[in-house]
Amino acid sequence: MSTQYDVIVVGAGTAGIPCAAAVAARGGRVLLVEQNDDVGGSLHLSAGQMSGAGTQLQKERGIEDHPRLHFSDAMRISKNTADPQLVNLAVNLAPDVIDWLMVEGFAMDPECPKIFYGHEAYSVARTYWGVDGGISILEVLRRVLTRQLRRGRLELRINTSMVGLVQDSRYAPVTGVKLRGPDGKVQTVLAKNVVLTTGGYAGNGRLFSRLTDGHPLFSAGMPTSNGTGILLGSAAGGAIRNGDKFLPTFAGITINGQSNRVDFYRMPSLTPQVRPPWEIFVNLHGRRFVAEDHPSVDERENRLLEQPEMSFWIVFDDRILKEAPALLGQGGGLAGGDWTPEAVREAYATHPSFKTADTVAGLAEACGLRASALTETVADYNNAVDSGTDSLGRKHLPAKIETGPFHAIKAHGAVLKTPAGLSVNTDLQVVNRKGQVVPNLYAAGEALGGGTLSGKSFVGGMSVTPALAFGRYLGSNLLKW
Ligand SMILES: Cc1cc2nc3c(=O)[nH]c(=O)nc-3n(C[C@H](O)[C@H](O)[C@H](O)COP(=O)(O)OP(=O)(O)OC[C@H]3O[C@@H](n4cnc5c(N)ncnc54)[C@H](O)[C@@H]3O)c2cc1C
Repeated sequence: MSTQYDVIVVGAGTAGIPCAAAVAARGGRVLLVEQNDDVGGSLHLSAGQMSGAGTQLQKERGIEDHPRLHFSDAMRISKNTADPQLVNLAVNLAPDVIDWLMVEGFAMDPECPKIFYGHEAYSVARTYWGVDGGISILEVLRRVLTRQLRRGRLELRINTSMVGLVQDSRYAPVTGVKLRGPDGKVQTVLAKNVVLTTGGYAGNGRLFSRLTDGHPLFSAGMPTSNGTGILLGSAAGGAIRNGDKFLPTFAGITINGQSNRVDFYRMPSLTPQVRPPWEIFVNLHGRRFVAEDHPSVDERENRLLEQPEMSFWIVFDDRILKEAPALLGQGGGLAGGDWTPEAVREAYATHPSFKTADTVAGLAEACGLRASALTETVADYNNAVDSGTDSLGRKHLPAKIETGPFHAIKAHGAVLKTPAGLSVNTDLQVVNRKGQVVPNLYAAGEALGGGTLSGKSFVGGMSVTPALAFGRYLGSNLLKW
C-alpha cells in the first residue's frame, strides 16, 4: 500500500528545501525526494547572489528601497521580457527571504548590500551574497532541514529519482509520483500535492539544444540539472515556455579543454567596471565584435550570442600580460576569480584554450583563425590606440598589441541557468498554454525557466531569491489552499 503525504517535493535544492521545511513547520506531512546523494542542488556551485528591496540590512545602512523600485529595475533590465506578474510576486517576497536568512544565521558578506556590475546594475545597493557564495545559503538550509527532520513531519529520500507523475490521463489531477530508489525499483507514492523543484537543464546538452533554439551549451551548472522535472511536468499537461529568452554569461573558459564544461570560479576578469580591458575580443572569423569596455554587460552578452559557436579569443601581447592588472586573478572575474599564480602558469603551459606564438600570424594559426584576418584586426586596433578613435566605440585604449610573444585565451558564453521552464500562474500551479491548471501540480525555482523572472537578460539575484521565496511561499500556503 502506498503512503499518503500532504505534499511531495521533488528536488532538494534551493527551492525544494525551504518548501518542504515550510510544509513540515505548519504540521503537514511531507516527502522530500532528491536524486543526488546530498541535498543542495545548484547551491553547491552557485555564487548565491540574492536581491531584495526594503530589507532590514538596507534599513540599518540607511539605503532607501522598495519592492516597487526592485520591480521597475527588474523590468528595465529585462527590457520587459520577464513575466511581470511573477516578478511582482518575487520582489514582494524577496525582502522577507533575506531577513529570514539573517535570522537563521546566514554568513552575509559584510560589504553587502552592494551594487554588482557583473550583471546589468540595479539602481540601488540591493545585491547580497554569503561569505562562501551559494554554500553559505546551503548551510542555513541544512540547519532548517535538520530541524524539521527531527520533528518528524518531514521525510527525506536521497539517491531517489522521480521517473513519473501519477495521473489518470494528461491534464487530470496529479495524485503522486513514481520514484526509483537506490535499489533500482520503481515505487508509486501518493500525495495531495506535488511540487516540482527539480531545477533547470544546464547538465543536459541534448535537452539544452532542443529547448534553447539549438545554441551550444558551455555549462557552468550542476550535471544533475537534467531537466526531467520540466519534461515530466510537460507530459502531465504543463506548457514549456521561454526557451527563446536565452542569453549567455560573459564569459567562461572550459575546464582543461573538456568540451562543454565551464569553470565558474575561473572566469577571466571581463567586467570593465572592475578591470578596464587591455585585450581585444576576437570571434572565430578573427574579427572584433563588441567594444570590450562597453559598460552594459547585456550588450556584450547579446553580441556574443550572435557569434559563431558563441566563442571568442581574448587576444593580447606580452607587455599587456606583464603590465596590465591580472586578467586571471583572485578577486577578479564575475565570481571573484580563483586563479592562483600556479594555476595561471599551468594553464599557459598545458591548457588547450591558452595559445602563445611569436607573431600575430603564428597566434592566428595556433587558434585556428585566418592569419590575414587577425593581423588586420590587430593592426586596426593599434591604429585606434594611436588615434584615440575606435570603430566599435571602445574608450579604454591603454596599449597597442605589438610586443611578442602574443597570447590568446579562448572563452565561451557560459550557461549558469537555463531559460525554458514550466508555465505557472501566480499560485505557482502548473498550467497549460491556455492557462488551465493541471490540478495538484506546482513548480518553483529554475523549473519555471530562468527566462520567466529574468527575461532575455540577467536580473541580478533573480534566480536564487525567487527559488527560495517561491519554495517558502508554496510551503507556507499549500495546506491552506
Ligand atoms: C555557477 C552558477 C552561479 C550562479 N550564480 C547565481 C547567482 O549569483 N544568483 C542567482 O540568482 N542565480 C545564480 N545561479 C542560478 C541559481 O543558482 C539557480 O537557478 C538556482 O539555485 C536553482 O534552484 P532550484 O531549486 O530551482 O534548483 P537546484 O538548486 O538545482 O535544485 C534542484 C534539485 O532537484 C534535483 N532533481 C532534479 N531532477 C530530479 C528528479 N527527477 N528526481 C529527484 N531529484 C531531482 C537535483 O538533483 C537538485 O538537487 C547560478 C548558477 C550557477 C550554476
